[in-house]
Amino acid sequence: MILVAATTAASAWIMEAVVDDVVVDNDPARVSIVAALVIVIFLIKGMATFAQRVILAKIGNSIVAGLQKRLYRHILSQDMAFHQRMPGGELVTHISTNAAAVRSVLELLITSVGRDVLTVIALVAVMFVKDPLISLMTLFIAPVAVLGIGYLVRRVRSVAKKQFINLAGIVTGMQETATGIRVIKAFNLEGKMTTRMNNSIESVETQANRMANLDARSSPIMETLGGFAIALVILYAGWSVREHGKTPGEVVAFLTAMLLAYDPAKRLAKVSVILRSQLVGAGLLYEVLDTEPALQERGDAENLVINGGVIRLENISFAYAGAPALNDITLEAPPQSVTALVGPSGAGKSTIVGMIERFADPQSGRITIDGTDIRDVTLHSLREQIAFVSQDTFLFDGSVRDNIAFGREGATLEQIEQAARNANADGFIRAMRGGYDAPVGTNGENLSGGQRQRIAIARAMLRDAPVLLLDEATSALDAQSEANVQEALERLMTGRTTVVIAHRLSTIRRADIIHVMDEGRVVQSGTHNDLMERGGLYASLHALQFRGTSRDCGQ
Ligand code: ADP
Repeated sequence: MILVAATTAASAWIMEAVVDDVVVDNDPARVSIVAALVIVIFLIKGMATFAQRVILAKIGNSIVAGLQKRLYRHILSQDMAFHQRMPGGELVTHISTNAAAVRSVLELLITSVGRDVLTVIALVAVMFVKDPLISLMTLFIAPVAVLGIGYLVRRVRSVAKKQFINLAGIVTGMQETATGIRVIKAFNLEGKMTTRMNNSIESVETQANRMANLDARSSPIMETLGGFAIALVILYAGWSVREHGKTPGEVVAFLTAMLLAYDPAKRLAKVSVILRSQLVGAGLLYEVLDTEPALQERGDAENLVINGGVIRLENISFAYAGAPALNDITLEAPPQSVTALVGPSGAGKSTIVGMIERFADPQSGRITIDGTDIRDVTLHSLREQIAFVSQDTFLFDGSVRDNIAFGREGATLEQIEQAARNANADGFIRAMRGGYDAPVGTNGENLSGGQRQRIAIARAMLRDAPVLLLDEATSALDAQSEANVQEALERLMTGRTTVVIAHRLSTIRRADIIHVMDEGRVVQSGTHNDLMERGGLYASLHALQFRGTSRDCGQ
C-alpha cells in the first residue's frame, strides 16, 4: 500500500518533467528518460496493487472463517436461556452477514486508512512542495467536508440497525416456513405467511434504499467542494503564471497532484459512511461474542463418578425470567428404580428433568447425584452419564446408523446394531432400502413416529448411561408400535436410575414411586395403589388423563 501511494504521488510529481522537458524544452534524451520512468512507476503500481489485493483478500477470508468458528463454538457453549432469547434467524444473520461485516470493516479500514490516507498524504506533500500557499488555502475545504460527512454517518447507524433486525426476520421466516410447511398448508396460512414475509422484505428494501441514499449523498458534497477547490487553484494558477513566472510544468504537476488526491479523498468520505453501517453489524456480532454464558463450570470442577446413581433434589425453587416454575421441591430418585413424575400440563415436570441435566441452575436448593452437587462437576461428565429420551425425537439429517451413533462417541458397528436390536428397531431398519445406511430425511421424515421413538431409544441404549431421563410421548401409536416401544423402554429402564415424565398407565403402574406435581410443587407421592387409595389429584388425573396401553388409546 505504501508502494501504491508512493507511485501515485510519483506519477503526479513527474508531470512537471512531462510538461517542462517534453512539451516545452523537448530534449529527445530527456523525453526517453521520462517515458521510461513513467513505465517503471506504473509497473510498480500495478504489481503493488496486485499484491495488496491478494494479501488483503487472504486476511479477510481468514478473519471471516475464524470469526465464524469462534461464534459457533461460543453459541454452543451458551445456556438454554440464551437460546430461548436469541431467535434462530438472528444467529444465522450473525454467522453470515455480520461475520462478513467484520471483514468489510477491516478491509475498509486497511484500504482507506492504509492506501487512501497514505495516497492523500503523499499527494498533499507534492502539492506543498510545488506551492505551499495555495495548498494551505485548498485544505481549508477539508473541515467543511468532515462536517457534512459526519452528519451522514450519524444517520447511517440507525438505518443499519433496522436493516439487521428485518434481515433476521426474513431468515426466521424462511426457517419457520421450512419446518412448519405442513401446518402452513393444512391451515391455509400461505397468505398470512406471504404478508409477513413481504413486510420484512419490504422493510429491508426501504432501509437499503435509505442506506444507498445516505451513501450517495457523500458524492454531491464532495463534488461541490472539489469544484470550489479546483476553481480556486485555476484562478491562482493563472495569476501566479502571469505575476510570478511559474512554469506551466509546476502548475500542471500541482493540479495533477490535487486531482489525484481528490479521488481518494472522495473515497474516504464514502468509506466513512459505509464503514459506519458495517460497524453496526460487527458491533452486534461482538455483543453476542461477549455474552458470558450464565451457566458456568467451576474452575476446579471434577468429573462426576456415579456408583449407585441416587438423584436428590433438595428444596429446589426455580423461575423462568421471574415466572416461578418450581417451588421448594424435594424429592429423591432411588438408584436402579423408576421414578415417575405426573401432573397436569405446566406443573413443572419438564423443568425438573431439565434441571437434572443442568440446563439451568436453580435459584435456591441443590441437586445431587450420589451426594455430589451437580454444580461441582464438569458439564460434560454430568451429561455423559445421562441418557435423555424426549417426546419430540430430534433426528439429524444423515443415515440411521449415524443417528444412533450420536448416543456414544466411537461406538462400533456391532454396538450400534446391538442397541438397535434392544430397542426393537433392528427389524424395521433392515427392511428399509439401504438398511442402516438409509437416510432418515430432514428431521426423520422418512420414518414413522414409532420408528423415530425407537431410534431415540436405541441412541439411549448405546449411551448405556446409569441415569435415564425419559419424557414419554403423549401421541398415540398403533397397537403394534406401542407394544414395541413399551418393550424397548422396559429394557432401557432396567438397571438405571430412571426419572420419567409419565403419560401412560403402564409406565405409571410399573413405577417404583410416583410424584404428583401441580403448580410447581409435589402434592402427592407414593405408588399407584397407595395414591389410588388416597384419592385427591392423582385419582382424578387417573380418571381423566392417563391412558392405558395403546389398545385403549383410541377410546
Ligand atoms: P410440564 O412439563 O409439567 O408441562 P413445564 O416444566 O414445562 O411443565 O413448565 C412449568 C412452568 O414453567 C409452566 O408454567 C410453563 O409455562 C413455564 N415454562 C416452561 N418453560 C419455560 C420457558 N422456557 N420460559 C418461560 N417459562 C417456561
